[in-house]
Amino acid sequence: MDVIALALHVVGSIGVTVGIGAVLLFCVWRILCTLEQGTSYVRRLHQIPCSRCAYFTGDYRLKCTVNPMSALTEEAIDCSDYVSNSPECGSFCSQNTPPYQYIKELVKR
Ligand code: SF4
Repeated sequence: MDVIALALHVVGSIGVTVGIGAVLLFCVWRILCTLEQGTSYVRRLHQIPCSRCAYFTGDYRLKCTVNPMSALTEEAIDCSDYVSNSPECGSFCSQNTPPYQYIKELVKR
């Protein structure tokens, strides 16, 4: 009788240990999956070019003068109207053109 109780105790201890280990491994696996999904989503959001675009106003009321509905969204990732506001953009830079400055002043009012 004592041998059977001891065997059941040993089997039960091993089962509990394996169960706890499996739950911990599952939790670690889910955390790693969530981190991977989060980093890939953040990487995608960093592809949105609006903050570097000449048409981006920086004003929440009219974020973009060309595509106000898609500005700062994932739709803007491949925006065909993107114009760099970098000083090195050369002839493609339209940040200093009169319409851009005029619209920017209108938005500020
Ligand atoms: S023109 Fe396109 S890239 Fe530029 S701010 Fe508007 S939506 Fe964004």
